[in-house]
Amino acid sequence: MKRLPIIAEAPSELSDAQDRKISYLRVSVTDRCNYACTYCVPERGVPMVRRERLLTFEEITRLISLMAEMGVRRVRLTGGEPTIRKGVVSLVESISAINGIEEVAMTTNAHLMGTMAAPLAKAGLASVNVSLDTLKPGAFAELTRRGDIEKVIRGIEACVAAGMRVSTNTVALRGLNEREVVSLCEFAWERGISPRFIEHMPMSGGAAYSERNKFTSVEIRDVLAQHYGTEPVAEGSDGGRGPARYWSVEGGGRVGIISAMSEHFCSTCNRLRLSATGNLHTCLAHDDALDLKSILRGVPAGGEEIQHAIRAALSLKKEGHEFDPSGRGGPAKHMISIGG
Ligand code: SAM
Repeated sequence: MKRLPIIAEAPSELSDAQDRKISYLRVSVTDRCNYACTYCVPERGVPMVRRERLLTFEEITRLISLMAEMGVRRVRLTGGEPTIRKGVVSLVESISAINGIEEVAMTTNAHLMGTMAAPLAKAGLASVNVSLDTLKPGAFAELTRRGDIEKVIRGIEACVAAGMRVSTNTVALRGLNEREVVSLCEFAWERGISPRFIEHMPMSGGAAYSERNKFTSVEIRDVLAQHYGTEPVAEGSDGGRGPARYWSVEGGGRVGIISAMSEHFCSTCNRLRLSATGNLHTCLAHDDALDLKSILRGVPAGGEEIQHAIRAALSLKKEGHEFDPSGRGGPAKHMISIGG
């Protein structure tokens, strides 16, 4: 992995060279997952890192506190699967208590949410995005390699019952779920939650999917228009909560679409990503990263020194992503290691 240099001059606020303000941090709390979705994890697997290489909860909380001082307001825990890291409920509680943090959210497969939703909500988890790529039990088991759709549905319902805001995340892929757009939407609407579709991004290890599997946001809207007999109406974004653009479907409900490939939203990007091993990534689609853990664990670094390094890394945030639609090239990092 290329390391970003720490440069001397840094802007005075948490914004980049394009004047994009950063208010959102995604934190991967583990590189391990209880599922192994085929578009995310290569068949041969991904080498797992040793526990001592992971940021401790104290280190994660310290970094978030420093970033909150610089303007970060929303934190999303991801992974791997965040619910399998021991003690994640207490991590949520600590992050929720940080001055300046307005919302703690999580991206999860919900496999364990049947029992974890209530304690997580009590600890301050306000919102979850649950990965749900198909409702067909056989296809779900095949895609996730070891998933259980019934358990996921119970997990989703437990999140709703615990009072969290819930969305589903469906990676749109022809050959997997192009015939399930309506059923996935209706599954969500019936439970009072928002369905979201994400265009597949060609990351390392996702070789099973290629150009012929492309299923774009326009095609998703066409399916909805055909089924409901009227074009979905654009509603705009979700106020800095995420990159989805929302559409309302007459006779249905609201649906979010993340058109990462066909109409990218880099110009409004407000996010940074912290990997489980403490690398700070300024873009999902580039491999450059700042090794924050070494700074944190090296000469006992003061808060200002760490904040300076973060600003310096941010000043090098690229203007746009470099996903290669052919599936070749693009970032070498795996989605399971960075958390989407
Ligand atoms: N284990 C959690 C889960 O299943 O939601 C969090 C980690 S997962 C890597 C985060 C999100 O990234 C999931 O919604 C997943 O569907 C999405 N994702 C993974 N690989 C992707 C890809 N190549 N393109 C688009 N989204 C992807």
